[in-house]
Amino acid sequence: MIGDFTQAYVIAHEVGHHVQTLLGNSQRVTKMRERAHPLEGNKLSVRLELQADCLAGVWAHKAHRARQILEAGDIEEGLKAAGAIGDDRIQRRTRGQVVPESFTYGSSAQRVQWFRPGLERAHLRLCNAFQGDVG
Ligand SMILES: [Zn+2]
Repeated sequence: MIGDFTQAYVIAHEVGHHVQTLLGNSQRVTKMRERAHPLEGNKLSVRLELQADCLAGVWAHKAHRARQILEAGDIEEGLKAAGAIGDDRIQRRTRGQVVPESFTYGSSAQRVQWFRPGLERAHLRLCNAFQGDVG
């Protein structure tokens, strides 16, 4: 059963994309994708999605601080949800095989890895998925 925090995480991820638009990241990635090889374009999409996961974590942290919204088990539920919607899990379930080059959201491990720092520490600088290795 989908929990209430899972639903909040999914919405917060989408709001994360809006924040990326306000920051100019979405437009930068769109421009870079136009010039990039399709496989590089996929990697850029993964970075954008992982940053949105991190921003969703920042939201959860801040919302909890302001309104005590988190209940026991919510963090585990959110991390489990992040892990359940990784490209590897989805591809294994729908295609029966995993093709990492075609990932556009990131693996389950990556999604958990990027959601967690936002959730636990809420520093925007931890959400820079455009530098270095994304895990
Ligand atoms: Zn997304």
